[in-house]
Formats: sequence, structure tokens, C-alpha cells
Amino acid sequence: MKLIGWNPFNSNEALTMDSTKVSFYKGVPVFRTNSRSGSFYAIFMDREDSFGPYAEDDLRHEYGHSIQLMKLGPVKYGFGIGVPSWLEFTFHGPNDMYTEQPWEITADIFGGVESRYHITSDISKAYWYFSILGML
Ligand SMILES: [Zn+2]
Repeated sequence: MKLIGWNPFNSNEALTMDSTKVSFYKGVPVFRTNSRSGSFYAIFMDREDSFGPYAEDDLRHEYGHSIQLMKLGPVKYGFGIGVPSWLEFTFHGPNDMYTEQPWEITADIFGGVESRYHITSDISKAYWYFSILGML
């Protein structure tokens, strides 16, 4: 919290990723954990993610999930994004096209991830998936 000057609307990714316990990013509380990163009204960011080559993008991606939650509400977010994400991660692992899943691509886009590129057809699929979820 000291690193961001106690400003909950801090938008400096590097400062948030330097925190070891609690911080804020664009109004969303960020708790550092020792397990896989995730988001549900707060960002739970694996401490290990600070040492990756694209640490800022890990935060942007999780913030993208927060935007999905704001747009969809907890039920659609939980069933449409939380559950398939958990299934994919549990049964296929993080390396097996995990970041190319439609719910992961819209998190990248909403969060402004800069280091990952998605092909146009995957982006269309991702928007389609998100719109359908929104209409349910
Ligand atoms: Zn994700």
C-alpha cells in the first residue's frame, strides 16, 4: 500500500506488482498469494508472477477478468468464465492453449494486455462467447 501512496486508483502496474501483501490497481484490491492467480471482486495475484517476463501483463489480464465480472455479474461470470477456466486449467494445465480460450482472450483485451497477440478468428470467437454470455 505504501508503494502506491495509499491510492486505490493507482494505475501503475509495476508498483502493484512490487507489492508483497495488499495493493490496489484501478480501484480493485490486489492480494498477493502463493497460489495460482485469479479474480473475483479482487485480484489474487501469485507472488511468483512478479518475476515473469511480462509481470505487468499478468496484472492487466486479471484486471480484465474484473471488467468481465462487472459486465456480467457474479452468476454469469462464475458459470461462464470461472468454471470453464477452472476445468481447463485442472485438466489441460496452463500451457495447453489455456490463454487462447475465449474467456481468457476477452480478459486480455479488456485489461489491455500488450505482450500476447491473438489471431482475428480467435478474437471474434471470444467476443461472440462474451456476447452470448451477456444475453443469457
Ligand atoms: Zn485468466
